[in-house]
Amino acid sequence: MSRRVLQGVLSSARLWGKGRQNAVGLVAVPSQRLTSSLTAPLSCTFITSHAWHNSHPTPAPSPTHHNAAGIRTADAGKEMLEITFADGNSSFFPYCWLRDNCQCPQCFDSDALCRKLTLEDWQHNDSPRSVQVEEGGRHVEVQWVSGHRSCYEAQWLQQHAFTPSARDSQRSFLAIKKELWSTEMKLPRMDYNGVMHGDKELLDFLVTLEKKGVVVLTDAPREPEAVLTIINSIGYVKPTHYGTNYPIRSKASASSLAYTDQRLGMHNDLPYFQYVPGIIFLHCITQFEGKGGENDLADGFHVADYLKQFHPTEYRILTDTPVYFWDKGVAQVKQETTEYHKIVNIPIIVEDRLSGDVVRVNNSQLRNSYLDLPPEQVTPWYAALRLFNQTVDQQSIRNKLNSGEMLVMDNTRLMHGRTGYDSALGERHMNQAYLDWDGALSRRRVLQEKLGVTLE
Ligand SMILES: [Zn+2]
Repeated sequence: MSRRVLQGVLSSARLWGKGRQNAVGLVAVPSQRLTSSLTAPLSCTFITSHAWHNSHPTPAPSPTHHNAAGIRTADAGKEMLEITFADGNSSFFPYCWLRDNCQCPQCFDSDALCRKLTLEDWQHNDSPRSVQVEEGGRHVEVQWVSGHRSCYEAQWLQQHAFTPSARDSQRSFLAIKKELWSTEMKLPRMDYNGVMHGDKELLDFLVTLEKKGVVVLTDAPREPEAVLTIINSIGYVKPTHYGTNYPIRSKASASSLAYTDQRLGMHNDLPYFQYVPGIIFLHCITQFEGKGGENDLADGFHVADYLKQFHPTEYRILTDTPVYFWDKGVAQVKQETTEYHKIVNIPIIVEDRLSGDVVRVNNSQLRNSYLDLPPEQVTPWYAALRLFNQTVDQQSIRNKLNSGEMLVMDNTRLMHGRTGYDSALGERHMNQAYLDWDGALSRRRVLQEKLGVTLE
């Protein structure tokens, strides 16, 4: 150990006060791991005011928990700290990241769960003057060259590590892996009242919806409020220019094809919205008793996946060609916006730029006649669109809802259609409302934490 480093350690020891614990895994810059055990009175327990302790209620860890999350060693390199945990895994933590994520009360508001620091509040090139693992490996303390002191809990570091497994687990908390499906699909069915009244059932419903993109809820009350009741138990209803919820039944001078008894081609709803409604709740209050009135359903992400694999040229045309989806009209009933004119120019298949994953499909007869394309690109685009729709039809399933059932669909992913029926022969009455994915995903994560459920 150099004299300079030792002085650094000792001076920080004086600063940090009165603990009497032996330090283990004491390290100091530059890139030097100390194997000797120094008597250094350093412990996170003593560095801060009572306020910090009170705002950081650390649960008393069981011995098993302690071992799993403990820190064995901390090695300070030029730009990163390497932490080896008690379970043998290790991770590098860049210094700028550690400084930005200091958990002390000066840097982090533990009530708001938000950093107080702005980037101007710390030096980009700050580095540790000394690093010390507290006895027992529960914390690591960093004394920065700038003078600031930080303390990081072992479990927090392990959860936020840059290892593939820690990054995987955060990714699946963000979004559960989707299970694509085709004609073999059996619609998942769950009891409406169970989902309304049980946390476990609601979590199961939200997870299934995220994975499969569709769930049928059975035995819902046959009243128009039922869609609003269940949406409000998860998040907020998403209003559109058709209102917060609206009946779908055949009527004269309809503002939408949906309000007729004609066949509806495979589509998703309102693709002319920048923030397209994420989830459709379609409640069958009274089903048409005769022939027709069935729903066709297809997994748009599976269709995209299929085209990418077997028709890559058409797939690329569909991801690269923007289309004007639009809806223009005037209110037919009181709940509608008086006049509306929605336009979005977006491809049929939308990929995430970073991952390349398909994140949204758009398909509707509500396409404007404008195409912002050189004319020679139009015919190939139509051929690709035709192939897309043929594939959607081929890969679809058909289901006729019973009165009282509610079809819940991921509107960014699924296409749905309706077979025609003869409204002169009987009534068909559906009621529909939307919920955004932000609300559903948030509720799923809250329930996961509440129930302690980890998902792949
Ligand atoms: Zn701090």
